[in-house]
Amino acid sequence: MLEDARKNKYGIGCINTPNLEYLRALIEAAEEVNVPLIIDHAEVHDSLIPLESMAPYMIEFAKKASVPVAVHVDHGESMNFIVRGLRAGYSSVMYDCSALPLEENIRRVRDFVEMVHPAGVSVEGELGVMPSTLDDTHGGSGGVAPYTDPEAAARFVEETGVDALAVTFGTSHGVYVEEPKVDLDHLRTLDEATGNVPLVMHGSSGVPIPDIQKAINLGVSKVNYYSYLAVDSSKFAAERMAENDSEGVPTFYHELVEEVYAHTKNQAIDLLRDFKNGHE
Ligand SMILES: [Zn+2]
Repeated sequence: MLEDARKNKYGIGCINTPNLEYLRALIEAAEEVNVPLIIDHAEVHDSLIPLESMAPYMIEFAKKASVPVAVHVDHGESMNFIVRGLRAGYSSVMYDCSALPLEENIRRVRDFVEMVHPAGVSVEGELGVMPSTLDDTHGGSGGVAPYTDPEAAARFVEETGVDALAVTFGTSHGVYVEEPKVDLDHLRTLDEATGNVPLVMHGSSGVPIPDIQKAINLGVSKVNYYSYLAVDSSKFAAERMAENDSEGVPTFYHELVEEVYAHTKNQAIDLLRDFKNGHE
């Protein structure tokens, strides 16, 4: 999927689906736009809903979709979480050793790639320190981190054999405190250094769409997007409840989540269309 995206310069959305409404919204949006999709479960969401609760739904919906859908372990930091994902049937894993020194990151990811490639599992690695602007997204908090080093990236790709590489060039996880500044020149350098490996942009939500599209043109094939979609859904739900309250109408939860699902699907259609048109 990512190789085709890279060759034809479009971006594949990779979006967390920690509940059934998001899963339905995202898959149906991808079908509507007629693009491949990556759905994933993040280790940080595992305390909200365990991977095993969502996996059967995610895999079933992926199989039935009219477009290619990959089911991916997002930010697997512990081998325990990754093995649970593999056991549940996920076809792709991000093994995130980015907090470790380069040598250790290379060694661990190389060993993991050697172990799971024969089983047809694809692997995403990460190089560079990705800040998080919310403590509860990926553990870190705030600050500007150094970008991925191009020489280290070239070595990492060569020595690990990863299928995709997450790189840092100005984005952060979570909700941006300041306007994000993506360094597209640095991305270009990274793309040139790493050859044909598809690059991954984390923390894409909150980045202006034209910048995401430029990044897609410069070698980003997998666009991780979640936080702003989730905040938008919450705002929509709050507005609907306030409208009902002001009219004295009770809000039934099952009706509210259906409205959120339909709203999120529409948002996702626009988003996936923008990623598809990355080449324009
Ligand atoms: Zn991420």
